[in-house]
Amino acid sequence: SDHQLVYPPCPADMDWSKHFSSPISTSTTTPEEKRVEVADIGCGFGGLIISLPKVLPGVRMLGMEIRTQVTEYVDERIRALRRLAGGEAYADVGVIRANAMKFLPNFFERSQLQKVFLCFPDPHFKARKHKARIVSPTLASEYAYVLAPAGVLYTITDVEDLHHWMAKHFDEHPLFERLIGEEVDGDVCIAVMRTDTEEGKKVERNGGRKFVACWRRREDPEWV
Ligand code: SAM
Repeated sequence: SDHQLVYPPCPADMDWSKHFSSPISTSTTTPEEKRVEVADIGCGFGGLIISLPKVLPGVRMLGMEIRTQVTEYVDERIRALRRLAGGEAYADVGVIRANAMKFLPNFFERSQLQKVFLCFPDPHFKARKHKARIVSPTLASEYAYVLAPAGVLYTITDVEDLHHWMAKHFDEHPLFERLIGEEVDGDVCIAVMRTDTEEGKKVERNGGRKFVACWRRREDPEWV
């Protein structure tokens, strides 16, 4: 449960060194640590973050997963891939155990992220369970806080009701603008999200539908 979760009091206190293996710069000036720019919320077995470097090379990305054993599995998977591939492959892919519904601003500064993925979130079908869903007006504001202006939030689900739920909350939020047409069709991350997530594969095998929707984080309004 949550009281066993380890999380930093603020993003500056987070030690990322054990999650990533990018070499430290050898320059004499203090090396600036590379920052996480992509978060996969509820990453499950890690299919997305392991495939994304194909289309986003050199970008530092973090899977966040609440289940301990699943997180450990993904961590091992990443370390094994690094050993197998050698060099700097998978150096910028990491995973952390976290309750993303509670502690996102502890890990990320305001406007730090370029992309946030919500892939096949748990549907929590019953109405009285909807408060456990990973999208709500409050959580939409948190995603807006950690996303940089022009950053993109991606959603995919096979549950039509959940798709409409997520769409409603982001469409109604003043800091999100729905992406349509070419902006969605031309986005290389979407193909990865459809085909390389474990859930995406399962839905494919079962011949199910996949509902995709994405939003751009708007600029903050100017207060007059
Ligand atoms: N995204 C993966 C995929 O597409 O294959 C996994 C989808 S799975 C249906 C949902 C995952 O979200 C589960 O692994 C679950 O443990 C995780 N999860 C649920 N609530 C979470 C939370 N508050 N913080 C982090 N992870 C969470």
